[in-house]
Amino acid sequence: MSAPARSNYSVAIVGAGIIGLYTAYHLARAGTGPILVVDRGFLSSGASGRNGGGVRQQWETRATLRLARESVAAYRRFGREFGYNIWFRQSGYLFLAETDAELARLRPVHDLVRSEGLDSRVLDADGVRRLVDGIAPGAAVGGTYLGTDGTLYPFPALWGLYEAVRALDVEVALGVEVLGVTTADGRVTGLATSRGPVTASRVVNAAGGWSGDLSRAAGLDVPNHATRHEILATEPMKPFLDPMVVRPSDGLYFSQTMRGEIVGGLTLPHAPGTGGGMSSSAAFLPRMAASLSRLVPRLGSLGVLRAWSGYYDDTPDGFPIIGEDLRCPGFFHANGFGGHGFMLAPSATRRIARAVMGEATDLDPGLFGPGRFTGAARPAAVERLQLG
Ligand SMILES: Cc1cc2nc3c(=O)[nH]c(=O)nc-3n(C[C@H](O)[C@H](O)[C@H](O)COP(=O)(O)OP(=O)(O)OC[C@H]3O[C@@H](n4cnc5c(N)ncnc54)[C@H](O)[C@@H]3O)c2cc1C
Repeated sequence: MSAPARSNYSVAIVGAGIIGLYTAYHLARAGTGPILVVDRGFLSSGASGRNGGGVRQQWETRATLRLARESVAAYRRFGREFGYNIWFRQSGYLFLAETDAELARLRPVHDLVRSEGLDSRVLDADGVRRLVDGIAPGAAVGGTYLGTDGTLYPFPALWGLYEAVRALDVEVALGVEVLGVTTADGRVTGLATSRGPVTASRVVNAAGGWSGDLSRAAGLDVPNHATRHEILATEPMKPFLDPMVVRPSDGLYFSQTMRGEIVGGLTLPHAPGTGGGMSSSAAFLPRMAASLSRLVPRLGSLGVLRAWSGYYDDTPDGFPIIGEDLRCPGFFHANGFGGHGFMLAPSATRRIARAVMGEATDLDPGLFGPGRFTGAARPAAVERLQLG
């Protein structure tokens, strides 16, 4: 636990996950004055230390695809920039189709990805079998595949950012809870924390699954809702699988790490909200085992090393919420990343930092702005490809 060292900051960021730390990095490099990042947990205690490490550019909308593509480029240079190897491996992402109708639903994504110059492929059942050795006969009629998608290890990414921001004089106060946002005349003036008040004219809400709570504590009606997602890691087995595999019908996704473990999860209908804790439910292991071994029967004999869960911070239209909330000047949203905050973090946080500095961004406010859920402005589109 480390109390904030000063009482006055230029920017205070709530949440030391990938979004808060990356935002701090961009801001500090731009020289915005003293920055505080405050988190009630430990480094990586939120979703940023609990995810599958998937990074994909196959999206239903061009706006998300372009953010993801820019993030891929950033993760490729992460080692050079931050001195940490995040084991970013561009070994592909495979969306499976169990029926011709499912394959037809994946086609527009494939077409969009190709229109952006990326080499998406539509595979038949044989093409899928070549990528997923041991897949059950008849388990997929085909799928879509992009070889430059991939996976990374989340922890070194957080460590690299943590060290980088501290080297840039950002203060990271861990074990300090934010109890509320303080305002005067409707404007943000700072934070009330478990270690006392701090002043800051700009507050960034990067609180992940808890961001809705923080916004609401500031008096803002927001549509964010947390959903619990479970995931596991198996004992290692001889490497046989390159891509991340996603099956839309039940939300199954899994990849094989470079250490040989299978890491993957499945969507279960947990009640919304953060009340369920972050352990594994009794229903998860049998459901996951049945789903995985139905697809690749020989994985059914693997032992599970550990299972855990974390929170997605979901929005009704599947786009994150980025930018200043004009109902409370000085309050910036950097949240609503659902199950994809890691893969969008480098590019999205660059825009968040620009917004905090009062600069224009190239983000369509109708897709990403906080105002799209209030007043006359309605969400302009929906990003439905929320799996894996
Ligand atoms: C099981 C699972 C699998 C996933 N798989 C992928 C994937 O393959 N690829 C991908 O890109 N994304 C994936 N995600 C999503 C991704 O992990 C998140 O979108 C991303 O980590 C969000 O980062 P964040 O910094 O916004 O939030 P977090 O990492 O959750 O950080 C928020 C922080 O805010 C802190 N906080 C909250 N409230 C307060 C308060 N009042 N006071 C102080 N601190 C507070 C918390 O302690 C927490 O550390 C997955 C998520 C889960 C749960």
